[in-house]
Amino acid sequence: MRALAVEDDARIAADLTAALQAAGFVVQTCADGESAWFLGDTEDYDLIVLDLGLPKLDGLSVLKRWRAAGREMPVLVLTARGTWSERVEGIDAGADDYLPKPFRMEELVARARALVRRSAGRGGAVQAAGDLSLDANRMTVARRGVPVAVTALEYRLLAYLMLHRDRAVAPSELLEHLYGDNFSREANALEALVARLRRKLGPGIIGTRRGFGYFLEAGEVGA
Ligand code: CA
Repeated sequence: MRALAVEDDARIAADLTAALQAAGFVVQTCADGESAWFLGDTEDYDLIVLDLGLPKLDGLSVLKRWRAAGREMPVLVLTARGTWSERVEGIDAGADDYLPKPFRMEELVARARALVRRSAGRGGAVQAAGDLSLDANRMTVARRGVPVAVTALEYRLLAYLMLHRDRAVAPSELLEHLYGDNFSREANALEALVARLRRKLGPGIIGTRRGFGYFLEAGEVGA
């Protein structure tokens, strides 16, 4: 899962990054509205946390521009405490959720996870495809109810395939969402990761569709 944290307060930005990383996100940060607008307009994120009080361009304008341009990623807005009008404006501008400052990182992470799940049209914390299940709250994996030990990176790969289990995911898209940058990783790093996961999980879980990418076999009808 790839997240963008937009926050000009360096201390909060560092806390946000640490909390989201611990929750399994690859996190990119930026500290002003103009670069936020550019990043959200040109890059794909699974979640954006957006502070409204930002230099250069305020968060509300950033959000309105994204939505006007048809960018539909989930956005969680951070508002100043007690500003009821900011909350209403944020939601009107297309925010999916908001959190007034100061907030607890645990709450932010819980809401972030819920938003990502909701945006992919899946409800609960535990998701299953065939006999594979993922617990998003604990970041654990099980097959036929038996826990399988996976690394954070392996979990992220499975979670992304699970969210998009109605289709095959291209290696380039997976690389971007796993590592957060397009070109620094070779495709064979991904192949090695998939091979390791296949050994751990056994056959019949991660399929390859030639020319398209990887998919969860149990997630696809007729696959
Ligand atoms: Ca601010």
